[in-house]
Amino acid sequence: MADVVRIDENTWRFEDGFVRFFLLEGDEKAAMIDSGVNCPNALEMAKELTEKPVILINTHGDGDHTSGTSSFSRIFIHPADYTKCEVDKRYPETEMEEIKDGDVIDLGNRPLRIIHIPGHTSGSVAILDVVKRALFAGDSVQKGHIYMFGEKREPEKYEASLDKLISMNDEYDVIYASHDEYVLPKDYVSKVKESWKQVESGDAPFEMIDLFGNKVRSYTTENCGFYMAE
Ligand SMILES: [Zn+2]
Repeated sequence: MADVVRIDENTWRFEDGFVRFFLLEGDEKAAMIDSGVNCPNALEMAKELTEKPVILINTHGDGDHTSGTSSFSRIFIHPADYTKCEVDKRYPETEMEEIKDGDVIDLGNRPLRIIHIPGHTSGSVAILDVVKRALFAGDSVQKGHIYMFGEKREPEKYEASLDKLISMNDEYDVIYASHDEYVLPKDYVSKVKESWKQVESGDAPFEMIDLFGNKVRSYTTENCGFYMAE
């Protein structure tokens, strides 16, 4: 059961151990952004906070962001992650509602814009809370370690995705992250990019570690970390 913390009058974060997810309420409906690692009852938790109908939007399909999926009949998710991250296999009862770059989901005077940012996963998206000027970046922008090894990742697309977020940084003031510190200043995207370039150019030190049976390079930079294939 995650701890619920109110961010403002109609926004909450759920602290679910090492990961977090969010609830945003508009005038007509509410949206949960991700559903944690250990919260199969995510929808019930949302219903204790809002009387509006609740939809589920996923920043991506990794298992630590999808635990409440089966409490919803459908999930708004990028199709690449629905299949590549095997959300379809893990939650066969829950249907996919496809989202793509530029889509706007309006909760009622609270439009949410979808920004496709492949890299961490092929179907990773950031969600711009247009009126509140907040960016929900999933795992793609954070202070912790960002997973970049394995078949569902597309590291070659990551830098362009960060550039996309940087190019629109006059549209948000804060970034909400799924791991480590929950709120980051908007210039943090540039910091993550700086670290990524150090890793890519071979300038960042790393150590070999074992992660769930995979031997990976663990990079720890000033701004964030990365787990990379050997
Ligand atoms: Zn994650």
